[in-house]
Amino acid sequence: MSEANKQQGLMEKLTALAKRRGFIFQSSEIYGGINGFWDYGPLGVELKRNVKNAWWHDMVTTRDDMVGLDCSIIMNPRVWEASGHLGGFADPMVDCKQCKGRFRADKVWAVKVQSKAGVQVLGVEADDEPHARQAAEPALAKIAKKQGSADVLEVLSADVTLLQPDLAAAFACPSCGQMTLMPARKFNLMFKTYVGAIESENSVAYLRPETAQGIFANFKNVVDTSRVKLPFGIAQIGKSFRNEINPRNYTFRSREFEQMEIEFFCRPNESAKWYEYWRDLRHKWYTNLGLKSSNLHLREHGKEELAHYAAGCADVEYEFPFGVSELEGIANRGDYDLTRHQEFSGKDLTYFDDEAKERFVPHVIEPSAGVDRTCLALLCEAYEEDEVEGEKRTLMRFHPRIAPLKAAVFPLVKKEGMPEVAKAIYRDLKANFPVYYDEKGAIGRRYRRQDEAGTPVCITVDGQTLQDQTVTVRDRDSLQQVRIDKSRCLAYLKEKMGLI
Ligand code: ATP
Repeated sequence: MSEANKQQGLMEKLTALAKRRGFIFQSSEIYGGINGFWDYGPLGVELKRNVKNAWWHDMVTTRDDMVGLDCSIIMNPRVWEASGHLGGFADPMVDCKQCKGRFRADKVWAVKVQSKAGVQVLGVEADDEPHARQAAEPALAKIAKKQGSADVLEVLSADVTLLQPDLAAAFACPSCGQMTLMPARKFNLMFKTYVGAIESENSVAYLRPETAQGIFANFKNVVDTSRVKLPFGIAQIGKSFRNEINPRNYTFRSREFEQMEIEFFCRPNESAKWYEYWRDLRHKWYTNLGLKSSNLHLREHGKEELAHYAAGCADVEYEFPFGVSELEGIANRGDYDLTRHQEFSGKDLTYFDDEAKERFVPHVIEPSAGVDRTCLALLCEAYEEDEVEGEKRTLMRFHPRIAPLKAAVFPLVKKEGMPEVAKAIYRDLKANFPVYYDEKGAIGRRYRRQDEAGTPVCITVDGQTLQDQTVTVRDRDSLQQVRIDKSRCLAYLKEKMGLI
């Protein structure tokens, strides 16, 4: 099996587990779903909350230089004029005349193949050239089988090229394979709605495509009310909406998603230093959640990739089964945003520096992360299959800090007073963390269910507990079992989570 197929298989297994165990469901599934929208089930919501809590704890609660905000999703539409989203927040989109497929032009690739039958163009959808080559493999194998050989002459990206009408015809549709792609068009990604009873041009509003603008719009409020002094940051977690042309890769590219964003304001001459600080800190943060550093990459953008106002930008990327893709972007945005809002609102957004006795527009570093993409990376990282006593086992190796359930408590059998003791332990733990109680079925099956949920430990009350007050604690990863005094269960869990 090729590596691409193996990885594809992993995504299928993972999405099946996520559905089976209640991590992620398709939104409005009973009505056939809706493309690009997802719901988090009972386990998924705990995982997601743990990610957000870890971020808030590490970036806000425990820092002296950060305050939080929670802004509205719909804002005055002038905000989006100032931010540039109304004019420029658009992707080139390409339609197929034949099958009505719709794609982002920068994700469409033409793979030109030479065989005895002549030159043929294969159309594939992929994030980059290596993946385009991988995606063309099955079709290439078919041609080679029929014609004796199949040589790739060229792999071309449709990005930019498709914007030139005469070149559109050189690309095959990734869906139906016909040479029927139309020239690309720009498409604004913001969801439009109307505020109030009258639907007119004057009542148009937009669902925010990022949380950041709420922070900029409140910069003056925060400075005037919170006694913050440069350098300082403002943090926000919240939903954002983008009418993505082609949502895909499970929750990776959704139309409704959650962001964790910081705007860190500093003196202009210190922005390069703070940019490096945030870039490195945010890269490292993911390893504390349990992502292996070998699967994480920090990619510094080249000069040609930078927005005209940005002095630096880097992506934290993760090796997903479908390719290396962005989890978070960290950008040195200079004074662009505050200056634009100053221009459009007519309000003074400068800061008076007591030390230097001068007034200026602060520069800003923006670490912008996705909650859903972080959850997806954690799910991919955690998924594992092994064999225990000749039996296949699927387990989710979550770090205890982000595991949805911290422990499960079982009585070995449903008699001899064991359920009562187990329930008392469960109640005690449950007052502190999400914990699961289960007394049904064979103990092996109960363990297996918790392995799939990613529960780090299972605590079992057995015959010996009734004599010496000890319980068995079974570790999800090592499968080792130790006996501890039942009064130590809470401390044991806290240690595991790194809380004490
Ligand atoms: P991409 O190039 O993948 O579309 P982007 O560079 O447009 O992402 P940003 O505008 O920098 O993304 O948004 C910051 C973060 O918000 C991203 O790193 C990602 O984690 C998250 N994010 C953005 N778009 C989506 C989406 N459609 N679905 C899920 N998360 C998203």
